[in-house]
Amino acid sequence: MIAELISVGTELLLGNIVNTNAAFLSEKLALLGYSVYFQTTVGDNRERLYMAIKGALDRSDVVILSGGLGPTEDDLTKETAAEVLGASLYEDPSVKESIQDYFKQRKSKKITENNWKQAMVPEGAKILPNANGTAPGLILSAKEGTKYVILLPGPPGELKPMFEEQVEPFLSDLEPGTIYSQMVKIHGIGESVVEDQIKDLIDGLENPTIAPYAKTGEVHLRVTAKAASRKEAKKLVQPVCEELKKRFRRAVYTMKEDETLEENIVALLKKYDLTLATAESCTGGLLAGRLVNVPGVSEVFSQGFVTYSNKAKRKLLDVSKSTLKKHGAVSKQTAKEMASGAAILTGADVAVSITGLAGPGGATKEKPVGMVCMSCYIKEKNYVKEYYFTGNRQKIRENSVVYALSLLRQCILENYENKN
Ligand code: ATP
Repeated sequence: MIAELISVGTELLLGNIVNTNAAFLSEKLALLGYSVYFQTTVGDNRERLYMAIKGALDRSDVVILSGGLGPTEDDLTKETAAEVLGASLYEDPSVKESIQDYFKQRKSKKITENNWKQAMVPEGAKILPNANGTAPGLILSAKEGTKYVILLPGPPGELKPMFEEQVEPFLSDLEPGTIYSQMVKIHGIGESVVEDQIKDLIDGLENPTIAPYAKTGEVHLRVTAKAASRKEAKKLVQPVCEELKKRFRRAVYTMKEDETLEENIVALLKKYDLTLATAESCTGGLLAGRLVNVPGVSEVFSQGFVTYSNKAKRKLLDVSKSTLKKHGAVSKQTAKEMASGAAILTGADVAVSITGLAGPGGATKEKPVGMVCMSCYIKEKNYVKEYYFTGNRQKIRENSVVYALSLLRQCILENYENKN
């Protein structure tokens, strides 16, 4: 079934507030098995809202509106939706009572007259009580009961519980079946490369579907299937996940929804009983910071160096003067010596280093902003990589951290997996 969202509020159009309701609703609808092809944002204007609702109803089976249900003059959603559907409004005694109770509970002495506007309900509507505010939500049927218009209050603290407790069960009855989804998280490969390698699956599959989400240095693929039971839906999802694992091999770091790359690496270090040191220049401790996000990392993380100057690289990591002079601080050779220095000086089993040009200044003809070298020292060997990242200083530093984590993971797997 096709669902569509209309977010109502001039403040959304002016950029005064971020449309978190649309993100929340779209994600929920996808998990319920609905396709969302359009989202509209419209100001508090009756004519334009009328057009938006009418257009949405022509295209979609379920239209969900958020906002504009309040007591003030510019709250027009209910009146306009009723007009589109040709429904008249009546004062509902149960809604009136709940508004009175709401104010009584808050010990308000006077209820202003405009609040009673919220007790007006379109004929035939299903009322969704609002435990967190005064405006009830409404489900209106349209086009001889073949379509629905659902009105929800704007404040997320009212919309979210109303959707989860009252709208979700209604929508899952309309679109029977169970949804099962599985996450496949990939690191160290760009979004366009990932998409290119699975284009046949994305284009060719209808159930399950594959939805890619690009993150910094990572791509997450959500495989979702719908079937009569969870077991059947899972059966549809599994072969596709296996295929993805086959295509991306070690770049797939987890199938767990909430596992992060650093958590996965800390688990690997623990599994193989390895200790780790880090040596950073342009990332200034971001790499160590990400690793330290993981509870229990103290078992494996021995030390992190931030060596920004050449002097620090020499003094703390034993990078040779001639390497720095000949190749410069941003070079594969320096990265290599930073990593081996960190491992040897701390006695850690593994060390990873980053040195690069985060910009905006400092570029030369040979070394542009975004050039980052990194190395992993493991089993007395150095693995070295050179990247050319784009974006601003922050983006370059964030990318450097993810790609260094990626290198570290690949090196641990290559040296320890199936070798114990
Ligand atoms: P109220 O009874 O509070 O007036 P309402 O249903 O009329 O509720 P709006 O007046 O449109 O809703 O919005 C009230 C507040 O809810 C906004 O000021 C904003 O803080 C929040 N809000 C509205 N729409 C959204 C949205 N799409 N995403 C996030 N927050 C929103």
